[in-house]
Amino acid sequence: MPGFELWSDEERKEVNEVLETGILMRYGFDSPRKGKWKSKELEQAICKRFGSKYAQLTSSGTSALTTALAALGIGAGDEVIMPCFTFVASFEAVLSVGAVPVLVDVDETLTLEPGAVRKAITSKTKCVMPVHMCGSMADLGTLISICNEHRLILLEDACQSIGASYKGKHVGTIGNAGTFSFDFVKTITCGEGGAVLTSDEAVYAKCDGSSDHGHDHKGVDRGADLHPFLGYNFRISELHAAVGLAQIKRLDEFLAIQRRNHSSLKNILSQLPEISFRKIPDPAGDSCTFLSWFLPTEEVTRAVVDEMKTQNVLAGNFYWYDNNWHYIRKWDHLKNNLTLHSLNDAQQLALKKLQSQNFSSSDAIMSRCISSAISLLWTEEQTREKAEKMVGIIRKALNKQSVTTS
Ligand SMILES: *Cc1c(COP(=O)(O)O)cnc(C)c1O
Repeated sequence: MPGFELWSDEERKEVNEVLETGILMRYGFDSPRKGKWKSKELEQAICKRFGSKYAQLTSSGTSALTTALAALGIGAGDEVIMPCFTFVASFEAVLSVGAVPVLVDVDETLTLEPGAVRKAITSKTKCVMPVHMCGSMADLGTLISICNEHRLILLEDACQSIGASYKGKHVGTIGNAGTFSFDFVKTITCGEGGAVLTSDEAVYAKCDGSSDHGHDHKGVDRGADLHPFLGYNFRISELHAAVGLAQIKRLDEFLAIQRRNHSSLKNILSQLPEISFRKIPDPAGDSCTFLSWFLPTEEVTRAVVDEMKTQNVLAGNFYWYDNNWHYIRKWDHLKNNLTLHSLNDAQQLALKKLQSQNFSSSDAIMSRCISSAISLLWTEEQTREKAEKMVGIIRKALNKQSVTTS
Protein backbone atom coordinates (compact mmCIF):
# COMPACT_ATOMS: atom_id res chain seq x y z
CA MET A 1 0.00 0.00 0.00
CA PRO A 2 2.21 2.90 1.07
CA GLY A 3 5.23 4.24 -0.75
CA PHE A 4 7.07 4.81 2.52
CA GLU A 5 7.66 1.05 2.69
CA LEU A 6 10.20 1.33 -0.11
CA TRP A 7 12.14 4.40 1.08
CA SER A 8 15.31 4.65 -0.99
CA ASP A 9 18.33 6.62 -2.16
CA GLU A 10 16.07 8.31 -4.74
CA GLU A 11 14.13 10.16 -2.02
CA ARG A 12 17.34 10.98 -0.13
CA LYS A 13 18.92 12.40 -3.28
CA GLU A 14 15.98 14.70 -4.06
CA VAL A 15 15.81 15.97 -0.47
CA ASN A 16 19.57 16.54 -0.40
CA GLU A 17 19.35 18.80 -3.43
CA VAL A 18 17.03 21.05 -1.43
CA LEU A 19 19.20 20.83 1.69
CA GLU A 20 22.19 21.96 -0.36
CA THR A 21 20.60 25.25 -1.43
CA GLY A 22 18.77 25.69 1.89
CA ILE A 23 15.76 27.20 0.10
CA LEU A 24 12.91 25.28 1.69
CA MET A 25 10.14 27.53 0.39
CA ARG A 26 8.40 26.93 -2.91
CA TYR A 27 8.04 30.58 -3.95
CA GLY A 28 10.65 33.28 -4.52
CA PHE A 29 14.37 33.27 -3.69
CA ASP A 30 15.06 32.80 -7.40
CA SER A 31 18.80 33.28 -7.32
CA PRO A 32 19.89 31.29 -4.23
CA ARG A 33 17.70 28.32 -5.15
CA LYS A 34 20.00 27.66 -8.13
CA GLY A 35 17.29 26.42 -10.43
CA LYS A 36 15.76 23.95 -7.93
CA TRP A 37 11.96 24.20 -8.03
CA LYS A 38 10.83 20.87 -6.56
CA SER A 39 7.18 21.88 -6.02
CA LYS A 40 6.78 23.19 -9.57
CA GLU A 41 8.54 20.11 -10.91
CA LEU A 42 6.22 17.81 -8.95
CA GLU A 43 3.15 19.68 -10.20
CA GLN A 44 4.34 19.15 -13.77
CA ALA A 45 5.05 15.48 -13.07
CA ILE A 46 1.51 15.05 -11.64
CA CYS A 47 -0.05 16.65 -14.74
CA LYS A 48 1.99 14.40 -17.03
CA ARG A 49 1.51 11.15 -15.11
CA PHE A 50 -2.24 11.50 -14.54
CA GLY A 51 -3.22 13.42 -17.66
CA SER A 52 -4.39 16.49 -15.77
CA LYS A 53 -4.25 19.95 -17.29
CA TYR A 54 -3.40 21.64 -13.98
CA ALA A 55 -2.20 20.57 -10.53
CA GLN A 56 -1.83 22.64 -7.37
CA LEU A 57 0.21 21.17 -4.53
CA THR A 58 -0.91 21.85 -0.96
CA SER A 59 0.25 20.99 2.55
CA SER A 60 -2.12 18.01 2.91
CA GLY A 61 -5.00 16.14 1.32
CA THR A 62 -7.35 17.87 3.76
CA SER A 63 -6.14 21.31 2.69
CA ALA A 64 -6.37 20.20 -0.95
CA LEU A 65 -10.07 19.43 -0.41
CA THR A 66 -10.60 22.75 1.39
CA THR A 67 -8.80 24.62 -1.39
CA ALA A 68 -10.78 22.83 -4.11
CA LEU A 69 -14.13 23.52 -2.39
CA ALA A 70 -13.27 27.22 -2.05
CA ALA A 71 -12.07 27.44 -5.66
CA LEU A 72 -15.29 25.79 -6.83
CA GLY A 73 -17.26 28.46 -4.97
CA ILE A 74 -18.77 26.14 -2.37
CA GLY A 75 -19.53 27.80 0.98
CA ALA A 76 -22.18 28.83 3.49
CA GLY A 77 -25.66 27.56 2.61
CA ASP A 78 -24.40 24.96 0.14
CA GLU A 79 -24.90 21.23 0.64
CA VAL A 80 -22.25 18.71 -0.37
CA ILE A 81 -23.37 15.10 -0.76
CA MET A 82 -20.73 12.65 0.42
CA PRO A 83 -20.54 9.02 1.58
CA CYS A 84 -20.87 7.82 5.20
CA PHE A 85 -17.76 5.67 4.67
CA THR A 86 -14.72 7.90 4.15
CA PHE A 87 -11.91 9.45 6.12
CA VAL A 88 -12.88 12.27 8.52
CA ALA A 89 -10.98 14.78 6.35
CA SER A 90 -13.79 14.75 3.75
CA PHE A 91 -16.36 16.33 6.09
CA GLU A 92 -13.75 18.42 7.91
CA ALA A 93 -13.02 20.22 4.64
CA VAL A 94 -16.71 20.75 3.86
CA LEU A 95 -17.34 22.19 7.33
CA SER A 96 -14.28 24.42 7.10
CA VAL A 97 -15.66 26.34 4.12
CA GLY A 98 -19.02 26.84 5.86
CA ALA A 99 -20.90 24.27 3.77
CA VAL A 100 -23.11 21.42 4.98
CA PRO A 101 -21.94 17.81 4.62
CA VAL A 102 -24.87 15.58 3.64
CA LEU A 103 -23.87 12.01 4.40
CA VAL A 104 -25.53 9.21 2.45
CA ASP A 105 -25.30 5.43 2.13
CA VAL A 106 -22.64 3.43 0.37
CA ASP A 107 -23.21 0.24 -1.62
CA GLU A 108 -20.98 -2.75 -2.34
CA THR A 109 -18.60 -0.49 -4.28
CA LEU A 110 -17.80 0.93 -0.79
CA THR A 111 -18.49 4.34 -2.30
CA LEU A 112 -21.58 6.49 -2.93
CA GLU A 113 -24.78 4.60 -3.72
CA PRO A 114 -26.16 6.59 -6.69
CA GLY A 115 -29.79 6.06 -5.59
CA ALA A 116 -28.98 7.54 -2.18
CA VAL A 117 -27.36 10.53 -3.89
CA ARG A 118 -30.49 11.18 -5.96
CA LYS A 119 -32.68 11.02 -2.87
CA ALA A 120 -30.48 13.51 -0.99
CA ILE A 121 -30.62 16.26 -3.62
CA THR A 122 -32.35 19.45 -2.47
CA SER A 123 -32.48 23.01 -3.79
CA LYS A 124 -29.37 23.70 -1.66
CA THR A 125 -27.24 20.90 -3.11
CA LYS A 126 -24.23 22.30 -4.93
CA CYS A 127 -21.75 19.46 -5.10
CA VAL A 128 -21.43 15.68 -5.10
CA MET A 129 -18.23 14.42 -3.57
CA PRO A 130 -17.52 10.76 -4.25
CA VAL A 131 -14.65 9.32 -2.22
CA HIS A 132 -12.68 6.67 -4.08
CA MET A 133 -12.00 4.55 -1.01
CA CYS A 134 -9.33 1.92 -0.58
CA GLY A 135 -7.66 2.14 -3.97
CA SER A 136 -10.74 1.64 -6.13
CA MET A 137 -13.35 3.95 -7.64
CA ALA A 138 -16.93 5.15 -7.35
CA ASP A 139 -19.51 4.55 -10.07
CA LEU A 140 -18.46 7.74 -11.84
CA GLY A 141 -20.54 7.19 -14.98
CA THR A 142 -23.79 7.27 -13.01
CA LEU A 143 -22.63 10.09 -10.74
CA ILE A 144 -21.66 12.23 -13.74
CA SER A 145 -25.15 11.80 -15.23
CA ILE A 146 -26.73 12.78 -11.91
CA CYS A 147 -24.51 15.87 -11.72
CA ASN A 148 -25.25 16.84 -15.31
CA GLU A 149 -28.97 16.34 -14.83
CA HIS A 150 -29.08 18.52 -11.71
CA ARG A 151 -26.26 20.94 -12.66
CA LEU A 152 -24.09 19.94 -9.72
CA ILE A 153 -20.36 20.15 -9.26
CA LEU A 154 -18.45 16.85 -9.06
CA LEU A 155 -15.47 16.93 -6.71
CA GLU A 156 -13.54 13.66 -6.45
CA ASP A 157 -11.80 12.82 -3.20
CA ALA A 158 -9.18 10.56 -4.75
CA CYS A 159 -6.83 10.81 -1.77
CA GLN A 160 -6.73 7.03 -1.31
CA SER A 161 -6.70 6.01 -4.95
CA ILE A 162 -3.66 7.53 -6.61
CA GLY A 163 -3.06 5.54 -9.80
CA ALA A 164 -6.60 4.17 -10.08
CA SER A 165 -8.56 4.93 -13.23
CA TYR A 166 -12.11 4.78 -14.54
CA LYS A 167 -12.62 3.87 -18.21
CA GLY A 168 -9.13 4.97 -19.13
CA LYS A 169 -9.03 8.23 -17.18
CA HIS A 170 -7.29 8.66 -13.86
CA VAL A 171 -9.51 9.22 -10.86
CA GLY A 172 -9.09 12.77 -9.66
CA THR A 173 -9.09 14.11 -13.24
CA ILE A 174 -12.69 13.24 -14.13
CA GLY A 175 -14.79 15.66 -12.06
CA ASN A 176 -14.67 19.48 -12.01
CA ALA A 177 -11.73 18.95 -9.64
CA GLY A 178 -10.13 16.09 -7.74
CA THR A 179 -7.74 15.74 -4.83
CA PHE A 180 -4.82 13.52 -3.86
CA SER A 181 -3.19 13.07 -0.47
CA PHE A 182 0.51 12.40 -0.08
CA ASP A 183 0.40 11.83 3.68
CA PHE A 184 2.70 9.21 5.12
CA VAL A 185 0.48 6.17 4.49
CA LYS A 186 -0.79 6.96 1.00
CA THR A 187 0.20 5.20 -2.24
CA ILE A 188 2.96 7.74 -2.79
CA THR A 189 4.03 10.09 -0.02
CA CYS A 190 5.62 13.49 0.55
CA GLY A 191 5.61 12.93 4.32
CA GLU A 192 2.71 15.39 4.31
CA GLY A 193 1.18 16.91 1.21
CA GLY A 194 -1.74 17.00 -1.17
CA ALA A 195 -2.80 18.18 -4.61
CA VAL A 196 -5.81 19.57 -6.41
CA LEU A 197 -6.20 18.42 -10.01
CA THR A 198 -8.42 20.22 -12.51
CA SER A 199 -8.74 20.93 -16.20
CA ASP A 200 -10.41 24.29 -15.51
CA GLU A 201 -7.93 27.15 -15.73
CA ALA A 202 -10.01 29.50 -13.57
CA VAL A 203 -10.39 26.87 -10.83
CA TYR A 204 -6.65 26.23 -10.94
CA ALA A 205 -5.81 29.94 -10.67
CA LYS A 206 -8.06 30.17 -7.62
CA CYS A 207 -6.38 27.14 -6.02
CA ASP A 208 -2.97 28.67 -6.71
CA GLY A 209 -3.94 31.89 -4.94
CA SER A 210 -6.15 30.44 -2.23
CA SER A 211 -3.45 28.08 -0.93
CA ASP A 212 -1.03 31.02 -0.54
CA HIS A 213 -2.95 33.84 1.23
CA GLY A 214 -4.63 34.93 -1.99
CA HIS A 215 -1.35 35.97 -3.68
CA ASP A 216 -1.83 36.38 -7.42
CA HIS A 217 1.74 35.16 -8.17
CA LYS A 218 1.89 37.46 -11.18
CA GLY A 219 4.88 39.62 -10.35
CA VAL A 220 8.54 38.79 -9.76
CA ASP A 221 8.46 40.48 -6.35
CA ARG A 222 6.40 38.42 -3.91
CA GLY A 223 6.01 41.44 -1.62
CA ALA A 224 4.26 43.32 -4.42
CA ASP A 225 1.78 40.52 -5.29
CA LEU A 226 -1.86 41.62 -5.42
CA HIS A 227 -4.63 39.83 -3.51
CA PRO A 228 -7.77 39.54 -5.62
CA PHE A 229 -9.35 37.37 -2.88
CA LEU A 230 -8.67 36.06 0.64
CA GLY A 231 -6.79 32.82 1.09
CA TYR A 232 -4.92 30.71 3.63
CA ASN A 233 -1.48 29.24 3.97
CA PHE A 234 -1.79 25.70 2.68
CA ARG A 235 1.63 25.71 0.98
CA ILE A 236 3.77 22.61 0.63
CA SER A 237 7.49 22.94 1.39
CA GLU A 238 10.29 22.13 -1.03
CA LEU A 239 11.48 19.33 1.27
CA HIS A 240 8.13 17.59 1.09
CA ALA A 241 7.82 18.13 -2.65
CA ALA A 242 11.30 16.65 -3.14
CA VAL A 243 10.19 13.41 -1.48
CA GLY A 244 7.10 13.32 -3.69
CA LEU A 245 9.16 13.86 -6.80
CA ALA A 246 11.18 10.75 -6.08
CA GLN A 247 8.04 8.80 -5.21
CA ILE A 248 6.01 9.69 -8.30
CA LYS A 249 8.83 8.36 -10.47
CA ARG A 250 8.42 5.04 -8.64
CA LEU A 251 4.61 4.90 -8.77
CA ASP A 252 4.49 2.36 -11.60
CA GLU A 253 6.87 0.09 -9.70
CA PHE A 254 4.64 0.35 -6.59
CA LEU A 255 1.46 -0.32 -8.57
CA ALA A 256 2.96 -3.38 -10.24
CA ILE A 257 3.86 -4.92 -6.87
CA GLN A 258 0.40 -4.08 -5.48
CA ARG A 259 -1.31 -5.72 -8.45
CA ARG A 260 0.81 -8.86 -8.15
CA ASN A 261 0.19 -9.28 -4.39
CA HIS A 262 -3.47 -8.32 -4.70
CA SER A 263 -4.02 -10.93 -7.36
CA SER A 264 -2.32 -13.73 -5.35
CA LEU A 265 -4.33 -12.87 -2.25
CA LYS A 266 -7.57 -12.69 -4.21
CA ASN A 267 -6.96 -15.98 -6.00
CA ILE A 268 -6.43 -17.80 -2.73
CA LEU A 269 -9.39 -16.21 -0.90
CA SER A 270 -11.57 -17.04 -3.92
CA GLN A 271 -11.36 -20.73 -2.95
CA LEU A 272 -14.02 -19.94 -0.37
CA PRO A 273 -17.45 -19.69 -2.03
CA GLU A 274 -18.77 -17.87 1.07
CA ILE A 275 -16.53 -14.87 0.35
CA SER A 276 -17.62 -12.18 -2.07
CA PHE A 277 -15.55 -9.23 -3.21
CA ARG A 278 -16.11 -5.51 -3.44
CA LYS A 279 -17.94 -4.41 -6.57
CA ILE A 280 -15.56 -2.43 -8.77
CA PRO A 281 -17.12 -0.21 -11.46
CA ASP A 282 -14.03 -0.59 -13.71
CA PRO A 283 -11.98 -3.60 -12.55
CA ALA A 284 -9.09 -2.75 -14.88
CA GLY A 285 -8.69 0.59 -13.12
CA ASP A 286 -8.27 -0.78 -9.58
CA SER A 287 -5.00 0.48 -8.05
CA CYS A 288 -5.03 -2.63 -5.84
CA THR A 289 -3.98 -0.78 -2.70
CA PHE A 290 -6.47 -2.91 -0.77
CA LEU A 291 -8.42 -6.09 -1.35
CA SER A 292 -11.89 -5.59 0.17
CA TRP A 293 -14.10 -8.63 0.76
CA PHE A 294 -17.36 -9.58 2.42
CA LEU A 295 -18.42 -12.49 4.63
CA PRO A 296 -22.02 -13.75 4.82
CA THR A 297 -22.88 -12.25 8.24
CA GLU A 298 -21.66 -9.77 10.82
CA GLU A 299 -21.31 -12.63 13.31
CA VAL A 300 -18.90 -14.59 11.10
CA THR A 301 -17.01 -11.41 10.27
CA ARG A 302 -16.50 -10.61 13.96
CA ALA A 303 -15.37 -14.18 14.61
CA VAL A 304 -12.84 -13.87 11.77
CA VAL A 305 -11.56 -10.53 13.09
CA ASP A 306 -11.18 -12.00 16.61
CA GLU A 307 -9.36 -15.07 15.36
CA MET A 308 -7.07 -12.94 13.17
CA LYS A 309 -6.21 -10.96 16.30
CA THR A 310 -5.46 -14.17 18.22
CA GLN A 311 -3.28 -15.55 15.41
CA ASN A 312 -1.50 -12.22 14.91
CA VAL A 313 -2.55 -11.67 11.31
CA LEU A 314 -4.92 -8.77 11.96
CA ALA A 315 -2.29 -6.13 11.17
CA GLY A 316 -3.10 -4.69 7.75
CA ASN A 317 -6.66 -6.05 7.84
CA PHE A 318 -9.25 -3.35 8.53
CA TYR A 319 -12.72 -3.90 9.98
CA TRP A 320 -14.04 -0.41 9.20
CA TYR A 321 -17.34 -1.01 10.99
CA ASP A 322 -15.59 -0.70 14.35
CA ASN A 323 -13.04 1.88 13.18
CA ASN A 324 -13.15 5.37 14.70
CA TRP A 325 -11.86 7.21 11.65
CA HIS A 326 -13.71 5.93 8.64
CA TYR A 327 -17.35 5.14 9.27
CA ILE A 328 -20.36 7.14 10.48
CA ARG A 329 -21.12 4.67 13.31
CA LYS A 330 -18.20 5.90 15.42
CA TRP A 331 -18.21 9.58 14.46
CA ASP A 332 -19.67 10.80 17.75
CA HIS A 333 -17.63 14.02 17.60
CA LEU A 334 -19.40 14.85 14.34
CA LYS A 335 -22.89 13.79 15.42
CA ASN A 336 -22.50 15.70 18.71
CA ASN A 337 -21.22 18.86 17.06
CA LEU A 338 -18.01 18.86 19.10
CA THR A 339 -16.25 21.73 17.34
CA LEU A 340 -13.96 24.18 19.13
CA HIS A 341 -15.52 27.11 17.29
CA SER A 342 -19.24 27.50 16.57
CA LEU A 343 -20.52 26.26 13.26
CA ASN A 344 -23.19 28.14 11.34
CA ASP A 345 -26.84 27.30 12.01
CA ALA A 346 -27.34 25.17 8.91
CA GLN A 347 -24.28 23.10 9.78
CA GLN A 348 -25.34 22.59 13.40
CA LEU A 349 -28.79 21.48 12.31
CA ALA A 350 -27.39 19.03 9.74
CA LEU A 351 -25.00 17.42 12.23
CA LYS A 352 -27.74 17.02 14.80
CA LYS A 353 -29.87 15.25 12.18
CA LEU A 354 -27.11 12.67 11.73
CA GLN A 355 -27.86 11.32 15.22
CA SER A 356 -31.14 9.85 14.02
CA GLN A 357 -30.40 9.24 10.32
CA ASN A 358 -30.83 5.63 9.26
CA PHE A 359 -27.68 4.06 7.82
CA SER A 360 -28.89 0.46 8.11
CA SER A 361 -28.23 -0.35 4.47
CA SER A 362 -24.59 0.77 4.85
CA ASP A 363 -24.36 -1.06 8.19
CA ALA A 364 -25.45 -4.27 6.46
CA ILE A 365 -22.49 -3.89 4.08
CA MET A 366 -19.81 -2.46 6.35
CA SER A 367 -20.47 -4.93 9.18
CA ARG A 368 -19.50 -7.78 6.80
CA CYS A 369 -16.54 -6.08 5.15
CA ILE A 370 -12.83 -6.55 5.75
CA SER A 371 -10.21 -4.65 3.74
CA SER A 372 -6.76 -6.17 3.48
CA ALA A 373 -4.04 -3.58 2.83
CA ILE A 374 -1.61 -4.82 0.20
CA SER A 375 1.97 -4.38 1.33
CA LEU A 376 4.79 -3.54 -1.08
CA LEU A 377 7.14 -5.58 1.08
CA TRP A 378 5.45 -8.97 0.78
CA THR A 379 7.23 -11.48 -1.41
CA GLU A 380 5.05 -13.82 -3.46
CA GLU A 381 5.80 -16.56 -0.94
CA GLN A 382 4.82 -14.39 2.04
CA THR A 383 1.62 -13.28 0.31
CA ARG A 384 0.65 -16.90 -0.24
CA GLU A 385 1.42 -17.84 3.37
CA LYS A 386 -0.63 -14.95 4.68
CA ALA A 387 -3.54 -15.76 2.38
CA GLU A 388 -3.54 -19.43 3.37
CA LYS A 389 -3.54 -18.52 7.05
CA MET A 390 -6.52 -16.24 6.40
CA VAL A 391 -8.37 -19.02 4.57
CA GLY A 392 -7.82 -21.32 7.59
CA ILE A 393 -9.21 -18.69 9.95
CA ILE A 394 -12.24 -17.99 7.76
CA ARG A 395 -12.99 -21.72 7.35
CA LYS A 396 -12.87 -22.16 11.12
CA ALA A 397 -15.29 -19.28 11.71
CA LEU A 398 -17.67 -20.53 9.01
CA ASN A 399 -17.65 -24.08 10.40
CA LYS A 400 -18.27 -22.86 13.91
CA GLN A 401 -21.23 -20.89 12.69
CA SER A 402 -22.75 -23.73 10.74
CA VAL A 403 -22.43 -25.93 13.86
CA THR A 404 -24.15 -23.38 16.10
CA THR A 405 -26.96 -22.68 13.65
CA SER A 406 -27.74 -26.31 12.74
C1 LIG B 1 -5.92 10.66 3.67
C2 LIG B 1 -7.23 11.12 3.22
C3 LIG B 1 -7.58 12.49 3.16
C4 LIG B 1 -6.75 13.58 3.75
O1 LIG B 1 -5.45 13.58 3.50
P1 LIG B 1 -4.35 14.15 4.51
O2 LIG B 1 -3.21 14.35 3.59
O3 LIG B 1 -4.09 13.11 5.54
O4 LIG B 1 -4.86 15.43 5.08
C5 LIG B 1 -8.80 12.83 2.63
N1 LIG B 1 -9.67 11.92 2.19
C6 LIG B 1 -9.40 10.60 2.25
C7 LIG B 1 -10.39 9.63 1.73
C8 LIG B 1 -8.18 10.16 2.79
O5 LIG B 1 -7.94 8.85 2.88
